[in-house]
Amino acid sequence: MIRKINKCLMILFAFTLLILPMCLVAPEAAKKANTLADYRKLLKDLQAEQASNQAKKNSKKSELNSAKNNVSYKQNQIIENQQKITDAMNESQKLDEEIKLGKDKLQELVSAYQISQGDNVYLEYIFNADSYEELIYRYAIMEQVMDYQENQITEWKTKIERNNQLKVDLEKEEEKLNSQIDDLAKDIKSLDKEIDSLDDMYLDIASEIKSVKDSIKMYEDLGCKENESLESCLKVAGDKMLRRPLVKGKITSPFGYRTHPITKKVNSFHSGTDIAVAEGTNVYATANGTVSRITRKSSCGGNMVYIQHIVNGKKWTSTYMHLLEIKVKVGQVVTNETVIGLSGGKTTKSYDTCTAGAHLHFSLATGWYDKDYFGYNNWKAHLVDAAKTVPLPTSWSSR
Ligand SMILES: [Zn+2]
Repeated sequence: MIRKINKCLMILFAFTLLILPMCLVAPEAAKKANTLADYRKLLKDLQAEQASNQAKKNSKKSELNSAKNNVSYKQNQIIENQQKITDAMNESQKLDEEIKLGKDKLQELVSAYQISQGDNVYLEYIFNADSYEELIYRYAIMEQVMDYQENQITEWKTKIERNNQLKVDLEKEEEKLNSQIDDLAKDIKSLDKEIDSLDDMYLDIASEIKSVKDSIKMYEDLGCKENESLESCLKVAGDKMLRRPLVKGKITSPFGYRTHPITKKVNSFHSGTDIAVAEGTNVYATANGTVSRITRKSSCGGNMVYIQHIVNGKKWTSTYMHLLEIKVKVGQVVTNETVIGLSGGKTTKSYDTCTAGAHLHFSLATGWYDKDYFGYNNWKAHLVDAAKTVPLPTSWSSR
C-alpha cells in the first residue's frame, strides 16, 4: 500500500516538474492594439523591453570581459610560476655545487685536524703557531670554521629541499590554474552565446518598434483620437464580396510555391497571383475598404498599395504590386469601384527587380496587416490564394 502511495507521489512529482516550467513561462501578452493609446502603451513596453535587453547585454558583456581578464591573469600567473620554478632549480643547482665545494673544504679541515692530533710538529707546521696558547686558539677557530661549514651545508640542503617542495607546490597550483582557465573558457563560450541571442532579440524588438511607430504615425495622420476605436477611425465600410481587381485579365503565375520566373529558383514562394495586363490599365479595390499602407519604389514589388476590408464581417487585407501609378492615399476610404492605381511591371523594372513584364501582382490575406499583425512573415502566414478566394478564373473579361 505504502509503495503504491510512493509511486503515486513520484508520478505526481514528475508531473509537477513537467508542468511547472510551462506555468512559469507566462503566455506572451497578445499584442493587439485597439486604440492609438494602446499603440503608445505597446511602444512604451517595447522600448522598456529594449532597454532591459540592452542592460542585460551590458552586464553579460562586462561578465565576459572580467572572465577574459581572469584568464589572462591566470595565464600570467602560470608563466610567473614557471619562472619561479626555473629560478628555484637554478638556485638548487648552484647550491649543489657549493655543497660539493663546502664538503671538499670540510674534508680538508678534517684531514688537517686528524693529522694535527698525532703530530705536533706537523700541526705546528700547518697552523704555524708561535706558542701553545696560540695553537689552542687556532684549534678553537678551526673547530668553529668546521661547525660553520657544516651548518652552512645543512642550510644549503634545507634550501634545496625547500626549492623542491616549492616546485611541487607550484606545479600543483599550475594544474589548478589550468582547470580554472578551462572553466572560464566554458563561461566565455556560454556568455558569447547569451550575448548573441540577446543581440537577435534586440533586432526583433527594434523591428517591432519600427512597425509600431509606423502604425502610430499612420493613425495620427488619419486623425484618430487617443481612445477612439481604430476600427471606427479607419471607417472601413463593409462589403458583400471580393471582386476582381481588373476588368480584364489572364493568370500567368499562381500563388504559392513555384519555379521563380526570373531567378528560375524552384520552390520559391509567390505571395500573390500574377495577372497579365497592359501597362496603364485601371486597377480597382477588390472590395470597399481603407488604404492602410503605401510603399513606393520597393526593390521588390515597386509601388504597392495595401487595403483593409471587412467582407461579410470577415477582415481581409489586399495588396497590389508593380503599379505604374498610385491614385489613393493612406487612410483613404475606397469602394470596390475606386481606381486605386494603374498597372505597371514593365517600365517599373528600372527599380523593381521582382517584375519581368507588364502585370499586376495581387495578394490577399486574412486579418488586417498593420493592425492585427505586423511584419512580412506574419503577413505571409495569413496569405490565401486569391484565385480560389475571389475567385479568379484562368482568364476573364468582366469584373
Ligand atoms: Zn507576382
